[in-house]
Amino acid sequence: MAPITHTPLRRPALLSVVAPVFNEQELIGAFVSRARAAVADYDFELVLVNDGSTDGTAELLDQIADEDWRVRVIHLSRNFGHQAALTAGLEHAAGDVVVMIDADLQDPPELIGEMVSQWSHGADVVYAVRRQREGETAFKLATASFFYKLFDKLAQVDLESNSGDFRLLDRRALDALLSMTERSRFLRGMTVWVGFNQTAVQYERDARHAGETKYTMSRMLRFSLDAIASFSHVPLQLATYAGILSAGVAFVAIPVVIILRLLDSYLPGFGSITIAVLLLGGIQLIALGVIGEYVGRIFDEVKHRPLYIVREERNVRPDVTPEAGPVSPARAGLTARAPERVG
Ligand code: UDP
Ligand code: MG
Repeated sequence: MAPITHTPLRRPALLSVVAPVFNEQELIGAFVSRARAAVADYDFELVLVNDGSTDGTAELLDQIADEDWRVRVIHLSRNFGHQAALTAGLEHAAGDVVVMIDADLQDPPELIGEMVSQWSHGADVVYAVRRQREGETAFKLATASFFYKLFDKLAQVDLESNSGDFRLLDRRALDALLSMTERSRFLRGMTVWVGFNQTAVQYERDARHAGETKYTMSRMLRFSLDAIASFSHVPLQLATYAGILSAGVAFVAIPVVIILRLLDSYLPGFGSITIAVLLLGGIQLIALGVIGEYVGRIFDEVKHRPLYIVREERNVRPDVTPEAGPVSPARAGLTARAPERVG
């Protein structure tokens, strides 16, 4: 809670809450009610991005949007992935303060009030740090902890370990983030990279409300590789170091082989040569693989495809204004028109 002070603290003119949603029919209703209750004190909008759900999520979202004009729904044309969906939501958010949150209720919407209060006190970016993670497998916790350590060693940005995508961004920070057009997106790293005044708030991460994680093993691996390759050149340099090391060993080996040869013409070296060839071949393939990861990303970047494609939008400006919006009881309470989307 914000401490009581005499100078009036700034208040968001419009608070946008952005959540990507993929096959969450069991819990989307619960999420919307809790999120709405959590931000009821503000002029707010909920921006829900349907990331190509194949269950009943799309219909549920449309129904919610019909009942409440403050709920904006963006249906993507297929599943583009968590980070792309989140980007779609951020680009559609009109608020001067924007919160990104997972729809599965692992990030408690009730924390938004505390995040906004940090913003009122001058923070531009507020990230939520999970003090505890309920209902995650030991495997997920172990791999996540390994990833954060590795990322910390390799990458040039200081990412707080155990901080997820649950973040609040000021309009300035958000515009800076949206000006980063790269395709392989690791949003939590990018929000740190933009700088500004960053603050943390702590929370206990709950178990998923219902349904199951949409991140499979291979998606997690892909995501980690994306994160590291987007923020670090160390893997590329690793290849160079490995090359220098093995070439060094080879140079040392040359005189050794010559001397052995001069001392005794019989050289039972078949085994060691095979090992050396395999080892060097392995190192070369790994180095090629590392280069391939980066070349693949360069290819993705130069194609410059859109990050996502929108199939349909509900309640998205400028269609929805106090004058033209769908009739709903909530409209009566509207006083000011929210600022137009910037950028
Ligand atoms: N999500 C999405 N597209 C995807 C995968 C996930 O929009 O391809 C959404 C999902 O509905 C949830 C959030 O992203 O709101 C986080 O996903 P999840 O809970 O599966 O990830 P985890 O918490 O296990 O890392
Ligand atoms: Mg989750």
